[in-house]
Amino acid sequence: MKTQNQFRYGNKLYSFNNDEKKKLISEYKKDLGSVIKELREIEKVCIVPDCICKPIKSHSIQKSKHLKSISEAGKVYGKSMNQIEIESFIDGELKFKEMGIKQASVFNGFCQKHDNEIFKEIEDEDLDERSLRHNCLLFLRSISYEIRMKEEMFDFIEMGLIKKGRNKLAKRESRKHKKLLRKLYSDFTLLYEAIKSNKLENQFGFASITTSKKYGIALSTVINRRSFFKSILPIANNFDYFGVSFFPHEDGSAFNIIWRKGWSILMKKLLIREKDNILKFINHIIVSETEDTFYNIGLFKKLDKQKQHLVKHNAMPSYTRTESEIPYILDDFIMN
Ligand SMILES: [Zn+2]
Repeated sequence: MKTQNQFRYGNKLYSFNNDEKKKLISEYKKDLGSVIKELREIEKVCIVPDCICKPIKSHSIQKSKHLKSISEAGKVYGKSMNQIEIESFIDGELKFKEMGIKQASVFNGFCQKHDNEIFKEIEDEDLDERSLRHNCLLFLRSISYEIRMKEEMFDFIEMGLIKKGRNKLAKRESRKHKKLLRKLYSDFTLLYEAIKSNKLENQFGFASITTSKKYGIALSTVINRRSFFKSILPIANNFDYFGVSFFPHEDGSAFNIIWRKGWSILMKKLLIREKDNILKFINHIIVSETEDTFYNIGLFKKLDKQKQHLVKHNAMPSYTRTESEIPYILDDFIMN
C-alpha cells in the first residue's frame, strides 16, 4: 500500500510514500546514527558558571508535588526523551510515552553540591507555591532545562547537519540557537545571582492566578517575550524570558508567571485585561508554546485522535510548528 505522507521542515513541504519513508528512516539511521552516539557521549558540566562538576539528574517540574498530583499509579504521559528521532519529524508529531514520575522532566543541570544548596528549600513538603522566591527557584530549573535542550539541539545541528556540508537552513538554525543560548545563559546568571543575594523583589515580578478547577496537566517552562505578547501586544521585538508554570494546586490549579521587573506595569495591565481569557491563554501556552508539558494518562487517552495529534504536533521543536488552529483542549483535562 502506498500512502502519501507529508513532512514539513522550515518552509518546505516534503511528500513521500511508505516505501520511501522506510528508506528515508534507514538512511537517516545509518547517516546520523554515529552523530547521535557522539552527542550522547558529550560530557556535560554543572550549569552554574565556573563549576566544572558533573551534573546529576534533576526535575524541571517538581516530582513530589506537581507530577505526583497528575499521575496515575505513579505514571504520567508526555514526550519521549529521545526527541531527536526522524520518525517524529516524518510523522509530524512527537512520540509520547507513559513514564514514571521519577523519569518525567528529568535533565542533567546541576551538580550534586549546587542542586542541594540551591533547591534545598523547595524540596518535598517545603514548597510554597505563592512565594516569589520559591517560584523563582522553579523558574531557575526551567531556564536550566531550556538551556540544556537548546544546547542539545545546537550540538545536533553543528555535528550532524553542518558537518555533513548541509545547508543554509542548518546554518541559520545554528546561528539562532547560539544567540538564544547566549541570552538564556545571561538570564540564568541574573536570576541565579538575585536568588543567591536574596534580592528578588527588586528585580522580578510575580503573579499567581488560581483556577477553581483541577486540571490534569503540569508544565513549567520559559517563554520569550515575543511569543508571550504576540497575539496581545505586538510591541516586543527582542528576547526576554518569562517563567510560566501551571499545575494542580490544592482545590484548583495555579498558573504562575515570573517576569523581569521592568515589565511589571505592562504585565499587571495585561493580566487584568485578560483575566476572563486566562484559561484560553493557558491553553495557548500548553498547545503551542511549550515542549515541556506532562499529562494525566487517562484524560489524554480520552482526547479524540485529532486533538491528540495536534498536541503531539505542537510539542515538536518550534520550527516545525504550523500556525494552525489551536484546539481548546483544557476542558478535556478536568480531574475529578
Ligand atoms: Zn555545580
